[in-house]
Amino acid sequence: MSNPLLERAAQRAIAYLDGLATRPVAPPPAAIAALDAFDEELPPGPSPPEAVLDLLDCVGSPATMAMAGPRFFGFVIGGSLPAALAANWLAAAWDQNAALANVTPAAARLEAVALRWLLDLLGLPAGAAGAFVTGGTMANFTALAAARHAVLERAGWNVEADGLIGAPPVTVIVGAEAHPTLFKSLGLLGLGRNRVIRVPVDGQGRLVAAQLPRIAGPTIVCTQAGNVNSGAFDPVGEVCARLAGSGAWVHVDGAFGLWAAAVPGLRHLVAGAGAADSWATDAHKWLNVPYDSGLAFVRDGAALQSAMAITAEYLPSESTVRNPCDFTPELSRRARGVEVWAALRSLGRSGVAEMIGGCVRHAQRFAAGLRAAGYEVLNDVVLNQVVVTFGDPERTGRVIAAIQADGTCWCGSTVWQGRPAMRISVSSWATTADDVEKSLEAILRVARKWGHA
Ligand SMILES: *Cc1c(COP(=O)(O)O)cnc(C)c1O
Repeated sequence: MSNPLLERAAQRAIAYLDGLATRPVAPPPAAIAALDAFDEELPPGPSPPEAVLDLLDCVGSPATMAMAGPRFFGFVIGGSLPAALAANWLAAAWDQNAALANVTPAAARLEAVALRWLLDLLGLPAGAAGAFVTGGTMANFTALAAARHAVLERAGWNVEADGLIGAPPVTVIVGAEAHPTLFKSLGLLGLGRNRVIRVPVDGQGRLVAAQLPRIAGPTIVCTQAGNVNSGAFDPVGEVCARLAGSGAWVHVDGAFGLWAAAVPGLRHLVAGAGAADSWATDAHKWLNVPYDSGLAFVRDGAALQSAMAITAEYLPSESTVRNPCDFTPELSRRARGVEVWAALRSLGRSGVAEMIGGCVRHAQRFAAGLRAAGYEVLNDVVLNQVVVTFGDPERTGRVIAAIQADGTCWCGSTVWQGRPAMRISVSSWATTADDVEKSLEAILRVARKWGHA
């Protein structure tokens, strides 16, 4: 048995991964300039696959950002766990269209098992339905489509059949710090990016539950677990308790923060979130599986099926199998549940807790080191996020640019409650305490040159 092409692909991928620890995190300008080599005319005829792979690796690999490596802190996006990456390779070889359980039984079964494990791990109702989608944006979209169905059905309106034109109005309530993609999801659903009531937030970006408006008519309330800057959590449990019996649908955007539920020492951050109606999270963020992988969970599975099943009038089938396409926007799609299963199967309960908890400890070390050097950390570091300034906006901007060019690590910029700042997001399984010390050293070295305490 030999397949030189695939062996070569594996060797090149292994060499790429081996290089991550020592290469600059951001691709050097020369590597980006060399991408011009891709800009050729469409070849008139075939080329050997080996040559295509070689071109891809020689030109493409150096121009990648080392997101899979241990010192990329630019976004909350994680890397790829070894088991998840390996499963991804095998699943790509399977090439399953994961829509129907009886056609692709392995993909469907792995997805169903992963879903059951996730509900347990994240403290969500055991009977909730789930959808394996592309990311947090689509997870919010999917869960909110179920919400839209349910609140309008209670008002006597079938939104899938009759649309939103002429439907009873739906009130959408969000925290003022909701993620920008949540508004995009609302726009895609016809609920409007701007047609929302924004509830004020506190200094950490947490929705203030006492400021929720009175609920009347079909209403969807969107809360957030894990602010993309501060890492802070809306008081989801308190929101659910206040709205109990109101008929409002409570959704939780927990793209990365929901994973706190998997760690005994962090679980208090999401206390009571299990009482909500729907939850969105990403697997490609903190579960560290390859792109693209998001997860939507909905307590009332019938509402999700009504929104997503292909037949307009969905009747729960007699079949005991779970057809993935009854829960997702897509019909044909890749079997992304395979990597979620592999990540969970390899880490187990304690491994997930250790991976998430380790990132939080790393973030706390960053914050302590920056504060000790006299720099201002703007957020309470409750999770994996550190927001820091290096003096005025101009100095802060110069420090961020210099850190990115230095290449030891990569951090991005943000504006937190009106103040330009640098954002450190720790979310990779690969980051070690040594990586944090190396990165902190580089950040402080650069900040001493360009910043001001
Ligand atoms: C990242 C993020 C999203 C969007 O997720 P994608 O996977 O990028 O689509 C939504 N909400 C929050 C809070 C996020 O952090």
